[in-house]
Amino acid sequence: MPLYEYKCADCGEVIEFRSSYDKKEEMVSSLKCKNCESNEFTQVFSGMALTGSKSDPAPPTSGGCCSGGMCGI
Ligand SMILES: [Zn+2]
Repeated sequence: MPLYEYKCADCGEVIEFRSSYDKKEEMVSSLKCKNCESNEFTQVFSGMALTGSKSDPAPPTSGGCCSGGMCGI
């Protein structure tokens, strides 16, 4: 069964669940955030943005090719 990730629209809590495709909508409609009890969720598509850090990614200032932000390469 595929693993789905949904993020709470209110507090950002991510809930994972496994479900067959045709049961997915049913599962989503029964989701409830354990933090804020919201039932508004948006699907997270993992793979592009790996979870693990909620903070902003480090800006690429250190080790960059130039300090001005515009490279002439
Ligand atoms: Zn929440």
